[in-house]
Amino acid sequence: MKVLEGDKVKGETFLLVRWQAAQPDEEPEGFEAMLCRHHREAIWLRHAIVTGCGQFGDSCDLCEGRPLMRA
Ligand SMILES: [Zn+2]
Repeated sequence: MKVLEGDKVKGETFLLVRWQAAQPDEEPEGFEAMLCRHHREAIWLRHAIVTGCGQFGDSCDLCEGRPLMRA
């Protein structure tokens, strides 16, 4: 996806969130990532425990294809 490069969507917010992997096929470990609104919603739907860290960033780890950080 090259569409957003150099032309950031106005009003887009990136927030640092932490969550616990809660899928049966995953180890129950914590992750941390800077996420756009779309990906925050995707994570919220998939995982029960998501906490915002009150920290803002300027890009989304998942949109940029960066590997997730272990929290
Ligand atoms: Zn994203």
